[in-house]
Amino acid sequence: MTSAGVQAYFRENFADARELFVSIAGDSGLHVASHQHPLAGPDGETLSTDAVTIGEPDAENLVVLISGTHGVETLCGSACQSLYLAKREWQKLPVNTTVLIIHAINPWGAAHIRRNNEDNVDLGRNFMNFDAPLPKNAKYEALRAAIDCPEFRGAERDRADNIHTRYIASNSINDYVDAIMGGQYEYSNGFAYGGNAPVWSNRLLRNLLAPYARSARKVRVVEYHSGLGPYGYGAAVTMQVNEDLQRVQSIYGRWVDAPNDTSEKHKERFHKVQGTPYDGIRETLADAELSAIVVEFGTYPPFESLRALLDDHWLTQSGDPASAMGREIKQRILEYHYPADPDWRQAIADRSAQIIDQTFRGLG
Ligand SMILES: [Zn+2]
Repeated sequence: MTSAGVQAYFRENFADARELFVSIAGDSGLHVASHQHPLAGPDGETLSTDAVTIGEPDAENLVVLISGTHGVETLCGSACQSLYLAKREWQKLPVNTTVLIIHAINPWGAAHIRRNNEDNVDLGRNFMNFDAPLPKNAKYEALRAAIDCPEFRGAERDRADNIHTRYIASNSINDYVDAIMGGQYEYSNGFAYGGNAPVWSNRLLRNLLAPYARSARKVRVVEYHSGLGPYGYGAAVTMQVNEDLQRVQSIYGRWVDAPNDTSEKHKERFHKVQGTPYDGIRETLADAELSAIVVEFGTYPPFESLRALLDDHWLTQSGDPASAMGREIKQRILEYHYPADPDWRQAIADRSAQIIDQTFRGLG
């Protein structure tokens, strides 16, 4: 595919990206199951998560490609999924293999250019056991008032920014990232809120996977994310440890990051988080040999990305998304997860193709 051809798969809004994905699948004679979201998009449009299944439903091998856990990252993952469909490599699947492509698992966040979902829940922190006591994030407490500062500019904002700066100076960058991004389960209007029950997208993901629980023996999952890591680089990260980690590294390379691995190989690049979709996938497909990665496509320096996320948090809690400032914040948070730069997009397309190739290697 030419470079210009590749660029055409990177769409500028969720409605266009969804239309492209659905039309490529339809043109290929593939069935698209659309799961309508209860809420509408910002222009009143219908929202849905679309799932395409290729191959026999009761195959022993299952490959799952998921986009849009974080809504604002959907356009990046969507382009990778649409490119996979368009190249028609699925026409030569390994024997006994099913592919399940889940497009925009958090469609509300995708349409509203939000990381979180309709409940202000970070879906990537929502796969918890809500019958057990939820963890407390003591570090978040120290920054809570500053994170929720109602003013965007002015004296109060300056004081809030100083609290962030002082926290980093008297603790560490790692503590700061844990405080803000680690997830919290106490403040439903706060940042990185993990929820108090499984949200719509969580329940849907489990429902989409459940039919394979009996037949799937070997499962490989790729979940697309963006906004973390070096610009244009697609890092493979796994939540798995021990022999599962060894298997994941044998598929995707020794450099796979493993934040939960406590051995000396731990690279500290990606922080330990809990309640990610991996936990829901693991529970739903409990009997399968599961090899699951997240691909993180890097964009801008981490503190700039974090600023964009915190500004969008302010916009949601205290601002007006329809205002000029609201539009500027939305444009910025999108650019920080989905750069317009054609070279960045080409790099993402190339890396995704490599990862998909690795995913199918050795199956069948
Ligand atoms: Zn993400």
